[in-house]
Amino acid sequence: MRICIIPETGIDEHLLLSLEEKLSEIFGKTKIKTDFLIPEAAFNLYRQQFNAETVLKSLPFPNGKECDLVLGITEKDLFVDGLNFVFGIADPLSGRALISIARLKNSFYRLPEDKKLLKIRALKEAVHEIGHLLGLPHCYNKRCVMSFSNSIVDVDRKSLHFCPECQNVINSTI
Ligand SMILES: [Zn+2]
Ligand SMILES: [Zn+2]
Repeated sequence: MRICIIPETGIDEHLLLSLEEKLSEIFGKTKIKTDFLIPEAAFNLYRQQFNAETVLKSLPFPNGKECDLVLGITEKDLFVDGLNFVFGIADPLSGRALISIARLKNSFYRLPEDKKLLKIRALKEAVHEIGHLLGLPHCYNKRCVMSFSNSIVDVDRKSLHFCPECQNVINSTI
């Protein structure tokens, strides 16, 4: 399984390198590719957030030569219709997923910055969305990385790992 990370311009390089390394260990070859620009049309003036689906659709498709899956990373706060915000979304049909680190940063909650914690949170959300790309639904095991996160407390509560049932599905796909 080859994953291409497509970051928004300006995302902290240490964070990207950490994701590249850890995702490689979990899923196989992962590479950071060229940046992408967030389409202006994705910005919702009323909500002061970006439409996650519009941003996702602006990501390149996995080209088959280098990437089987594409993971976009943005610092913009994302929403989908019906939800106040999302940490990320995935479109298994096109093999593209997107995560936002806006609400993974302590500063969003007026707490001191913690780069190590941000790396762990971003990795959890990246693994979660890639899990969706590989066909996994949400999991009821609250420790499983595929459990749904409604808040940063949920993100911190779940582990970095798939539960045994979800891991079985992953093992059969990669
Ligand atoms: Zn999910
Ligand atoms: Zn699970």
